[in-house]
Amino acid sequence: MNRLLIIGPPGAGKGTQATKISEELSIPAISTGDIFRANIKNQTELGREAKEYIDAGNLVPDSVTNRMVRDRLAQDDAARGFLLDGYPRNTAQVEELDSILTDLDQKIDAVLLLTADNEELVQRLLGRAADQGRSDDTEEVIRHRLDVYAEETEPIVDLYEARGIVTRVDGLGTIDEVTERLLSAVR
Ligand code: AMP
Repeated sequence: MNRLLIIGPPGAGKGTQATKISEELSIPAISTGDIFRANIKNQTELGREAKEYIDAGNLVPDSVTNRMVRDRLAQDDAARGFLLDGYPRNTAQVEELDSILTDLDQKIDAVLLLTADNEELVQRLLGRAADQGRSDDTEEVIRHRLDVYAEETEPIVDLYEARGIVTRVDGLGTIDEVTERLLSAVR
């Protein structure tokens, strides 16, 4: 299995796990959040388009996000596999991803769903805010991002469940424990 999605609420450890798993499987980890943050840092047009949404904890409009992912998945290093982290995040993006992959004659092999308790997530994110100073890691924005996840992103899990490709993995534990659980799901 080398075409993978990792889905989970903010703070569940998606980014950390995506990096580790992609290294183990020798596939690129493609994080839409990281791509946006790099563009904001470099003050690109894409960064300017995305910043206000990210700072408020809202989703960046699909038109912007979809185009970015389509371009990224067409690059050579993604031809033999990828781990998408943070995309798709709503049902319209699921449809767009289906369309992108159909055009590339590919399909998703597995969806890794990281689960965690909400209060645990808020505490972890507040800890990360202190360490990394992300502009969207204030308590108010964190709670809003958790609501956005529940309302917009959680429903997409059902779509993938219906395809029989979802594996649920408990995100509680040490980083290595969680990595092992995820790897055993895709090996
Ligand atoms: P993340 O690093 O995955 O938590 O993403 C940080 C922020 O980037 C999110 O709160 C959104 O504002 C934006 N973002 C990342 N991925 C997407 C996406 N697939 N669709 C829309 N916005 C996104």
